Amino acid sequence: MRVLAVEDEPDLLNSLMKALREDGYAVDGAPDGDEGLFKAESYDYDAIVLDIMLPGIDGWELLRRLRQTKKTPVLMLTARDAVRDRVRGLDTGADDYLVKPFELAELLARLRALIRRAASQAESRLKIGDVVIDTAARTVMRRGEEIVLTAREYTLLEYLALHRGKLVTRTTLYDHLFDENDSTLSNLLDVHVFNLRKKLGHDFITTRRGHGYCIESTP
Ligand code: CA
Repeated sequence: MRVLAVEDEPDLLNSLMKALREDGYAVDGAPDGDEGLFKAESYDYDAIVLDIMLPGIDGWELLRRLRQTKKTPVLMLTARDAVRDRVRGLDTGADDYLVKPFELAELLARLRALIRRAASQAESRLKIGDVVIDTAARTVMRRGEEIVLTAREYTLLEYLALHRGKLVTRTTLYDHLFDENDSTLSNLLDVHVFNLRKKLGHDFITTRRGHGYCIESTP
């Protein structure tokens, strides 16, 4: 999962990006509205954390322009606990909001919910065959036993599981699993898939004609 954080307070931006990375996200940051809009339009993020008061174009304007072309889930950060702000945010197309100061744990939980909703997934537990992925606890169980995954293996698995039944291209995976600071070589994706198959069974992830990967949906 790849997230964009648009926030002009350097300390807050840094701690946000650090917390998101520790939670397994690929993260890009933008310190003002113009860079934020440019990145939001250039990449397909799984979610955007958007501050309202920003230098350059503000969060409202960024959201208004983004909504002309994209449905990326947006969590707005508002400094003022004003009903007017929250109503305006939701009316402009924000998917959720959080009042500053906030607990990082709450922000992470709301982001997970936004990303699930965007994938039309109401439940935090995804059951695929004998594998259960708990997206809230970020754990994976198979036949009652916990499967230990690295952060990257987990995010790859979660992305494929949220889009199960669909072909996910390698390009899409690179866009959603790695951020602009990752200088990952292309064969690493194959290594992660190889390791996931070793842990979850060879047939769990299928390769479709060399173009991408798929977790088949099971009844
Ligand atoms: Ca601000």
